[in-house]
Amino acid sequence: MVCSDDEHIVMLPMLAHGHLIPFLALANHIQQTTGFTVTIANTPLNINYLRSTTANSESKIGLVELPFCSTDHGLPPNTENTENLSLDRIIDFFDATKSLKAPFYNLLVDITQKQGKPPLCVITDIFCGWAVDVAKSAGTVNVTFTTGGAYGTLAYMSLWLNLPHRNPDCDEFNLPGFPDRCRFHITQLHRFLRMADGTDSWSRFFQPQISESLQSYGMLCNTDEQVEAQALEWLRKFVKIPVWSVGPLLPPSMLNKSNTSKQHSGKVPGLSTEKCLEWLDLQEPDTVLYISFGSQNTISASQMMGLAVGLEESKIPFIWVTRPPIGFDLKGGFRSEWLPEGYEERIATAKQGLLVKNWAPQLDILSHKSTGAFLSHCGWNSVMESLSQGVPIIGWPMAAEQGYNSKMLVEEMGVAVELTRGVQTSVEGKDVKKVIELVMDKRGKGREIKENAAKIGQQIRASAMVEEQGQGSGSFLKSLNDFVTSL
Ligand code: UDP
Repeated sequence: MVCSDDEHIVMLPMLAHGHLIPFLALANHIQQTTGFTVTIANTPLNINYLRSTTANSESKIGLVELPFCSTDHGLPPNTENTENLSLDRIIDFFDATKSLKAPFYNLLVDITQKQGKPPLCVITDIFCGWAVDVAKSAGTVNVTFTTGGAYGTLAYMSLWLNLPHRNPDCDEFNLPGFPDRCRFHITQLHRFLRMADGTDSWSRFFQPQISESLQSYGMLCNTDEQVEAQALEWLRKFVKIPVWSVGPLLPPSMLNKSNTSKQHSGKVPGLSTEKCLEWLDLQEPDTVLYISFGSQNTISASQMMGLAVGLEESKIPFIWVTRPPIGFDLKGGFRSEWLPEGYEERIATAKQGLLVKNWAPQLDILSHKSTGAFLSHCGWNSVMESLSQGVPIIGWPMAAEQGYNSKMLVEEMGVAVELTRGVQTSVEGKDVKKVIELVMDKRGKGREIKENAAKIGQQIRASAMVEEQGQGSGSFLKSLNDFVTSL
C-alpha cells in the first residue's frame, strides 16, 4: 500500500444521509490505509452532522463547510439534505446542489495554494457530474463514487440514459447493459422514472449528471468483488471507465459475527438499544423478523393495517420500526388508530412483537443471533448490513434503486422473496402471513434462501477483513490498493 501524508484527497458526497455515511466510511478507510490527508466538503449542517458522528472516534478526516443557502433556490430555510423534504421538492433541491460548483472549485484552489500542488484526486458523488470539469480546472481528476451496489447502479444509470422506457403494449422491457434474461418491469421503477421522457425536471437533472460522471477518471462502487462479480462485469462494460469495488462499507462490528460487543448506531430516540437487545435475548435463534423501511420511507395507512394483521396472524416474533403513514407528519407522534384496535397491547402481552417508533438500532438488531429475516425496503446499506449477517430478506422496495436491488436479491442471489412494491399496492394480511411463513420456514424455500444468505455473509466478512495495520488479504483491501496505486 502507498503510504504518505503528503497527498490530499478531497471528497464531496451528495447532500443526503444515505450518501454521507458511506462517504465517511470510505474516507476513513483511505486515510487509515494510505496515510493521505482526506477532506470531506459539504454544506454546514451536513458537516455538523459528520462532526457529531465522528466526535468520539479517532477519525482524522478533515471536514470543510461549503456555503449553501437553500432559500436562494426557493427551498425551505436550512434545507441541506433530503430528510424531511417532500418527494416533489427533492428534484429542486438536487438541482440547487449544482450551486456548490464555485465554492468547491475555490476549496480546491485554496488547497493547491497551501500545499503547493493540487489534490491527488477528488472523489465525488455520481450525482455530481459537474465535478468532472471542476476537478479538471483545478488541475486534478474526478473519481465518481456510487454509494449503491453494481447491479442497482447499472440499472439506475442505464434507465436514465436510455429514456423513455414506457412501451404502451408491454410493461416489461430489456435494459441496455443487462443480458436479455434480465427483463425489467415498469412497476420496478420509481414513479419519476416511470414518467420520465427526457424533458421533465428529473431527467434534466439526472441525465447530464450521470453522463458527465462517466467522463471521470474512474468509478468506485460500494460493493464486493465476489458478491457482485457478474453485475460488476456488466457495469464495467457499460461505463467504459475503470471500476474499483471498495465495499461494502460496513462498520467493523458487523464484520465479525462472533463479536458480542454491539455497534451502537447512535440515533435512537425512543426505545433504547438495550431494550431491543433484551427483548431479542429472550427469543430463540433465527426466529425474529425485523421490519424497517430505511431512514426516509414510510408506507400507506392501508398497507400498515395489512402488514399489522399479517404479522400478528403469522405468530412470528417481530421488531417493527413504525412511522406515521404517508400523508402524516413523519416527525409527529404515532397514533394507535393506524394499527388494528388494541394491537400494541395484544402483541406485547403475547410477547410476540416490539414496535419501535421511528428509529431502531438496526445494526444491533441485524447482528443479534435471534434475528432470522428482514422485511426491508432494500436500500443498499440495509441490504449489505443484512447479508453481512447472513439474514435473508423480504423485499418491499419503495424508491431510488431499491426495485433493482430487490430484483437482484431474488433473481441473481436467491436470498430474498419480494412481498410487494411501492406505496400504491394493496397489502392483504393473508399475503403478508404467507410470505413470512415461507421465509421463516426452516425447510424448502426458506432454508434455501437462508443458506444462500449465509454464504454471502461469509464472503462479505472474509473480503472485508482488514487487520489492524491496514494489512489483510481481503479483496476489499486489494481493490482499494489498486485504486490508490493507479492515481
Ligand atoms: N437505519 C437505522 N435505523 C432505522 C432505520 C435505518 O439504523 O430505524 C440505518 C440503517 O442501518 C442503514 C441506513 O439507516 O444504515 C439506511 O440506509 P439504506 O441505504 O438502507 O436506506 P435509505 O435510508 O438510504 O433509504
